[in-house]
Amino acid sequence: MNSYKFIVNPIAGAGKAKSLIPAIRENFRQAGANFDIYQTNAPRDAIEAAEKAAQDGFNVLVAVGGDGTVNEVLNGIAGRKVILATLPGGKGNDFATAVNMPRDIDAACQDLLRAETKDIDLGRVMDRYFINSVGVGFDAAVARRVNDGVKLFKGVSAYVYAFFEILFNYEVVDIEIDLGMGPMKSSPLLVAVGIGQAYGGGMRIVPDAIQDDGLFDVCIFDDMNRLSLIYHFPKVFSGKLKEIRQAGMYQAQEIRLKLSEERPLHMEGEIFMGDQMHFTLQSKAMKVLTGSQSK
Ligand SMILES: [Mg+2]
Repeated sequence: MNSYKFIVNPIAGAGKAKSLIPAIRENFRQAGANFDIYQTNAPRDAIEAAEKAAQDGFNVLVAVGGDGTVNEVLNGIAGRKVILATLPGGKGNDFATAVNMPRDIDAACQDLLRAETKDIDLGRVMDRYFINSVGVGFDAAVARRVNDGVKLFKGVSAYVYAFFEILFNYEVVDIEIDLGMGPMKSSPLLVAVGIGQAYGGGMRIVPDAIQDDGLFDVCIFDDMNRLSLIYHFPKVFSGKLKEIRQAGMYQAQEIRLKLSEERPLHMEGEIFMGDQMHFTLQSKAMKVLTGSQSK
């Protein structure tokens, strides 16, 4: 019988994740399931909580929050024989989308109880695991701006707001990119690496990515006129990024980036600064719980 540990980030989604707790209790009590709920109280707390829960014998670790919470739980359990699951409750829920979790809490709880799983690829860079997507350069600068907090205009997502704020200030740097066939020199706006297809709350930056094919999908986005970029920007949401000449799509098992100056890397809500980035992939190394939401 499965034993579920819910790791809830109470501040995710401005309290959205915390508000899911009563529905979780009701669904799991009614099902007679074995479960426990823990609320985190500091950044990185979810890493330790997930690790301890796995040691205590819980075999399904449910990150309740956004992609940042998922990433912390992942980093507490990677390498262990347990299942990673999520209930979407954050600002960005791209992993939840990638594993077809419904937005409706009752439907999502029923999917958790059904516990269908698949083994997907696990990525690692900057001494940390990721399960969905990473960006280096312009997109990471936008993500950092979002993390710093932006005043929201009604109807405009934090990402879109930050995009425009960073747009005219970001300076590209030279990057030596090695996708396994020798280094190539470039000065791209960004390099995105995906196991899943989307980041930043629905931006499909590598729209053909498959989670269990043993390969990263890579988008190397060449610098372009910033006004043209505004014009083309909506295509990242509609999955039509490949229509833009500047968006080069590649696949690789291993990636090395050498930047001429430090730039930010964003990984599922976490920001790192660096000038050397080495991405490695472990094929089908993480068991994840999949939902019933059709795409
Ligand atoms: Mg893949």
